[in-house]
Amino acid sequence: MKIVLKNLSKIFPSRNKKSNGVVVAVDSLDIEIPDGKLVGLLGPSGCGKSTTLYMISGLQKPTMGQVFFGEHDVTMLEPEHRGVGLVFQNYALYPHLTVKQNIMFPLQNLKGEEKLDKEEMLRRAQEAADLVQIGDLMDRKPSELSGGQQQRVAIARALVKAPRVLLLDEPLSNLDARLRLQTREEIRRIQRETGVTTVFVTHDQEEAMSISDIIVVMKNGVKQQVGEPQKVYDDPANLFVAQFLGTPPINVFDGELSGGWLYIGNERVMDVSPDEPDRPVVVGIRPEGFIPSGNGCFSGDLKNIEVMGRDCSVVFTNEKSQKPSVRAIIDSDAGASLIGMSKVSFDLKRNKVFLFESETGDRIRF
Ligand code: ATP
Repeated sequence: MKIVLKNLSKIFPSRNKKSNGVVVAVDSLDIEIPDGKLVGLLGPSGCGKSTTLYMISGLQKPTMGQVFFGEHDVTMLEPEHRGVGLVFQNYALYPHLTVKQNIMFPLQNLKGEEKLDKEEMLRRAQEAADLVQIGDLMDRKPSELSGGQQQRVAIARALVKAPRVLLLDEPLSNLDARLRLQTREEIRRIQRETGVTTVFVTHDQEEAMSISDIIVVMKNGVKQQVGEPQKVYDDPANLFVAQFLGTPPINVFDGELSGGWLYIGNERVMDVSPDEPDRPVVVGIRPEGFIPSGNGCFSGDLKNIEVMGRDCSVVFTNEKSQKPSVRAIIDSDAGASLIGMSKVSFDLKRNKVFLFESETGDRIRF
């Protein structure tokens, strides 16, 4: 089921009683989510991800704009008639019911033509449980399950009615690091197996990038960029997106365009189009964009080399960096040859260097 959000906005009255202001949680969002894809809604806390998800589910009504499922305008349709499955961060299972009863619960409320007999309900519950690999835990209560297992029950319960759309709100936040990794792989597998169009909300960029077909990066209720994770990483639309994606994060410097060259401090690091007017710019260099070179174009004072097996992190300072230290990721052999040095210098990979307008953070394509 394709989902289309058209000019979608949500404005709340401010929670601050002293102010009469409003909060624009989602601002004129236009997004098309293709049928059968897993889409990650990504952004920092408070950027409007959950509000967007709740408007897709129908739990919240937009202040303006429309939500379409396929060609069907569902903006005013109640949640129970939209055919969505919802999974929340806190699982929201009924503690007094068994796994089986929790999964069957949505089927028991079906009415009229949709009503199912007990046998069919049990069959579907077992099928959903098997899909998320908890088929042998059906008689346990939620308190007898691990966090990861509880989240699987919540996913099975969301899937049991064969929803047209699956919506997941930070489903992995309550799990420890190992279970998070495992469960996100599971979500990917389940989504592939069922082919259900899925929207997944997270503030964790690594999580979103690792499982999504498409990511939507948001800031202050406004869409910043939509695309395949690798494409967005390789070609960020602005400084915010460039800084939000990537671990370790991109290194950011104050730079200068002058006479068709990019300068960082006194160092002339790269040629740019001669048509670019001279001006101050912000320069982003991905950690993997540095190539150690005895007389490279860009240098700094070496602080530390952190060996991480195959790769190592070269930590150095540069007076034009916006952070106290700069981090380059290079292979360990190249790193070993830098040990003991006080100065390091690098050549730069052109496709790992991004320029942004100082005032707006918009990308400059050079
Ligand atoms: P988080 O990751 O912290 O859950 P989010 O990106 O999901 O954040 P939302 O929960 O959608 O963000 O909130 C977006 C903005 O709208 C925030 O500033 C939030 O305080 C505000 N907001 C959300 N719900 C309400 C509400 N019911 N009343 C007033 N303001 C609200």
